[in-house]
Amino acid sequence: MSLTVSYCTDALADLVACTGSLYGQRHTARFFFDAEPRELRWVLRATDRSVEVTIYEFADVAVSPGLPDSDGTVRWRSVHPRPVFAHAVLDAAQQVLAEHGEAGYRSKWVLHPFPAGPVQDLRRLHLRDDACELPHDLSRP
Ligand SMILES: [Zn+2]
Repeated sequence: MSLTVSYCTDALADLVACTGSLYGQRHTARFFFDAEPRELRWVLRATDRSVEVTIYEFADVAVSPGLPDSDGTVRWRSVHPRPVFAHAVLDAAQQVLAEHGEAGYRSKWVLHPFPAGPVQDLRRLHLRDDACELPHDLSRP
């Protein structure tokens, strides 16, 4: 699935921070991509050891952020073991950083710096709780 997303929301930071929030008391996290004129709303639901990812599409982002999920159209739904999902999110963030660097990221995403803090938090939680045996690049933020 490939969806074009505009730079009005800090999508990578939201994805990383929402994934990290699933390690606490929170079991559902939402954020949206502003894909003008549409809204693409990501809903992450933690169930036991898995994360269900649903992407809802709404026709008009000018009004949809106040609407319930059920008013949107499901564009994507998948369930992943939490360690696998968190690892993939971290990997994606590292790839973006490796490709663009912090300065390049800021110039590409204009309004937002690379989310180094949320990435560090997520990696700490992932390493602490997920018993992941895949390699992790600890030399980067
Ligand atoms: Zn991992």
